[in-house]
Amino acid sequence: MAEIKEILPCIADPKKVRVVGKINTKDDSEEMMPYIAWLIPNSSYSKKNGWITFKKGARIITIHSDGFVTMTQIKDESEAIKILEEIEKIVKEAYRKKDEIDLSKPKEKISVTVMDVYNYLPKTNCKECGEQTCMAFAVKLLNGEKDVKDCKPLFIEKKYAGIREALLSLLSAAGFEFEI
Ligand code: SF4
Repeated sequence: MAEIKEILPCIADPKKVRVVGKINTKDDSEEMMPYIAWLIPNSSYSKKNGWITFKKGARIITIHSDGFVTMTQIKDESEAIKILEEIEKIVKEAYRKKDEIDLSKPKEKISVTVMDVYNYLPKTNCKECGEQTCMAFAVKLLNGEKDVKDCKPLFIEKKYAGIREALLSLLSAAGFEFEI
């Protein structure tokens, strides 16, 4: 059964929360990840990181192969449970349809906008990355002129762990490559 593990502040939108939830998994859940991703529109599976990422409105949802699910920009607990239950349904469907899913078909990459990136930066305009503002950094990051690690506060400060995870999963889902 889907359950909430943690409710945390959401730096991307202070009026909302970041939720860590858990869905039921089986022993072969890692093997099932590509099939689950296949059934979620605009999702991306990263084998290297073992996660599926997708956007649901402004929310960034990351499903880990151990069943943990992180969700940003969530209104309340009931919204989080609803999303977790939707994911559980998709997981069941993936088991049912596994033999019909053709994983060799290419899937569209998630499109990531400047605002998507900006939402998951610290938004302090501290200039440590060499840019005047976080918005300017977001533009250059998407243009490939900056590396995500150039935003040092994002990697050093513990309070940014949540937005860091969301940003990294979003960037990897959009096809960006980086070494962390
Ligand atoms: S280092 Fe990070 S927080 Fe500071 S201005 Fe650059 S993007 Fe913004």
